[in-house]
Amino acid sequence: MEFKKCERCGSFFISNSTVCENCTPKDTLEKSKLKNYFESENYSNTINSISVDTGISEKNLNRYLENEEFSKLSNKLHINL
Ligand SMILES: [Zn+2]
Repeated sequence: MEFKKCERCGSFFISNSTVCENCTPKDTLEKSKLKNYFESENYSNTINSISVDTGISEKNLNRYLENEEFSKLSNKLHINL
């Protein structure tokens, strides 16, 4: 185990995930929001407009879409990262 810097709030923590335990629920919530968003018919395909539509910051969107669970999706949707 090593110290990591939380990608959301910048605090240091020890874990295998990329965000601290305070931020994990926020990540989980936003990821499910994002999944629901892409299941709708009229999603946007730029980070900026997805951010406006979902209220998720561009920084966090980039982080989620680089994750494996979303990378296939973002390729399929032709999202411009
Ligand atoms: Zn955090």
